[in-house]
Amino acid sequence: MIIGSHVSFKKDSQLLGSVKEALSYGATTFMFYTGAPQNTNRQVIDIKLTNEAKQLMKDNNIDINNVIVHAPYIINMASSNDFAVKFLKEELKRCAILGINKIVLHPGSSVKLSREEGIKNIINNLNAVGSHEVMILLETMAGKGTELGKNFEEIKEIIDHVDYKLGVCLDTCHINDAGYDVNNFDDLLKKFDEIIGLKYLKCVHINDSKNLINSHKDRHENIGFGTLGFDNLIKIIYHDKLKDIPKILETPYVTIDDNSKERMYPPYKFEIAMILNKKFDNNLFDKVRNYYK
Ligand code: FE
Ligand code: FE
Ligand code: ZN
Repeated sequence: MIIGSHVSFKKDSQLLGSVKEALSYGATTFMFYTGAPQNTNRQVIDIKLTNEAKQLMKDNNIDINNVIVHAPYIINMASSNDFAVKFLKEELKRCAILGINKIVLHPGSSVKLSREEGIKNIINNLNAVGSHEVMILLETMAGKGTELGKNFEEIKEIIDHVDYKLGVCLDTCHINDAGYDVNNFDDLLKKFDEIIGLKYLKCVHINDSKNLINSHKDRHENIGFGTLGFDNLIKIIYHDKLKDIPKILETPYVTIDDNSKERMYPPYKFEIAMILNKKFDNNLFDKVRNYYK
């Protein structure tokens, strides 16, 4: 089972800290931003920390080929200025230095452009980035606001017109919110295979959703506490056709009001345990609070 979660990438510990955090959750893979997702301040990658991280991964059977970087969400590839291209190029370089070969990218938002123009910009910008050793995985989006990539056809359109090989990251919360019925996941995968091709699928984001199908909201919920439900998510996680694909949790942190100071605790150790046991735990939030307090 290749399962993990989003983890942090901190200034002082970088990739080594990320690996340690993933191991503390009992994960076999992980995903991270190389810096704050909402700004472009990025640190120089520390080679010593990176090498130590790689050794720690080896010692714990984490295959670096299953580790994912998420591009910052301020990159809007659907816009026509060249900031997004420049920054994504830098980000790809950082991935290469870290030895990570997959980066998840939100296709972009059309904002004031038409959807067609937005998609045209995405294609042109991705072609301007040029081919490189790190594979860009387009994430399926919820269709919140003017988000592009909310259906398989839009993703396919981009893949077809970019002159190097892209991959896809399927997000379970996003596809529900975009209008796909996860209650019938076999049909959904069949549709994915017919329109895009299953061989393009390189990562799955495992999230429950706070909202109903077709809501276009994009609000993640903890595993088994949302509209997708535990059994559906287990079916997806253990699906035979997704066996070799990394699965990443991006579920919300658990909050605790601790002497009027709000703290947040990661749920991943306990969500991964639920998944490995295939057993829903209604006491998830209390367990998380008790463990970290
Ligand atoms: Fe994402
Ligand atoms: Fe996601
Ligand atoms: Zn999301």
